[in-house]
Amino acid sequence: MIRYRCVGTPYSHFLPGSGLCGFKKLPPPTILAWEYPLLCFYAHPGGENSAMAHDLELLKQRMPLLEYLQRHNWRPCRAGRRQEFVGLCPLHQETRPSFYVNAHKNLFYCHGCGRGGDLIRFVQLFLALPFRQSVAHLEQELMPVPASHLLEQTVDFYQLQLHRHPEAARYLEHRGLHDPAIIEELGIGYAPGGNLRRHLAGRGHPFDLLLDTGLINGQGRDAFCRRIIFPLCQHGQVVNLYGRSIGAAFPHRLLPRSRGGLFAWDSVGYFSIVILVEGLLDLAILWQSGFRNTTCAIGTQLTSAQLAQLADQPGRSVYIVFDQDENQAGQKASHQLALRLKSAGIPARMVQLPHGHDPNSYFVAGATAADFTDCLERAQPL
Ligand SMILES: [Zn+2]
Repeated sequence: MIRYRCVGTPYSHFLPGSGLCGFKKLPPPTILAWEYPLLCFYAHPGGENSAMAHDLELLKQRMPLLEYLQRHNWRPCRAGRRQEFVGLCPLHQETRPSFYVNAHKNLFYCHGCGRGGDLIRFVQLFLALPFRQSVAHLEQELMPVPASHLLEQTVDFYQLQLHRHPEAARYLEHRGLHDPAIIEELGIGYAPGGNLRRHLAGRGHPFDLLLDTGLINGQGRDAFCRRIIFPLCQHGQVVNLYGRSIGAAFPHRLLPRSRGGLFAWDSVGYFSIVILVEGLLDLAILWQSGFRNTTCAIGTQLTSAQLAQLADQPGRSVYIVFDQDENQAGQKASHQLALRLKSAGIPARMVQLPHGHDPNSYFVAGATAADFTDCLERAQPL
């Protein structure tokens, strides 16, 4: 999968809608126009050796001219039956579209200003750069990006959405989360659904990358819809997103990628006593109540990497506070984990909350930090 990133915004006057549709009489593209590159554009010193020509060809294949222009908000109309498109010329001021792109030949020609060529020529003309700098600019612009960069942009976007959708704020309130500083610190956002793909595509991220990251599904729809979003980070990089449904959909959802280590281990790992909970809403309410030594494995099954994190400091003890389920599932998971921790040399205690509660519901029902501390103190070692 090829990934690209956009750097800078040199194309700010490529405004959305700058291509025009609806003009009845358009000058037809000429054969001469499409053969234009046969006239030599690249009069750079020394001429091209074949390896360089090959590299340039690969560069142009990586990003077809039409896709490149559209990514920078050029709005074309189809002109004729073949793969020809027309829109306003980005290279000069005009009100009638005379800028043609042939997608098959990967070339452009403007009947207004008489200029044409391939992707590199376009960048040369548009940014007024010499040939070599145009190639360097394109290579930088199309450089592969790590998925974490995309996930970070997604987190920023979802954080903005949190303040625009009252249903999200109502849900957090209902789950007892009201401290804006904690919400901000945890990077909590909201995915309303239906707007992430457009946002990321507008920032130059190709469809394949969004699909590959799991942010959109095969039908092109946002993976997260009506979900509170928590970013999962490791060593300062976002590695996954957790989405808690606020509606009738299945409550928990992660992107199809590793969930990383224990939540917020960069800060929690300094504590010698650690509270381990099942869910991020449990963690959020405990942090809000002052229990900053709380971490979370997203569920009750710890990976061996997460187990190793708990064991990374001698003498650490772990308080397991899983849900008190009707069917005893949480209690059984808690017992099994305590045994696993014990065999790894980590002393563990199983904390009992009042019947039917998880840490979040316990606080929402009115418990105080002192009540929770009592529960911790009553917890027995295995
Ligand atoms: Zn032009």
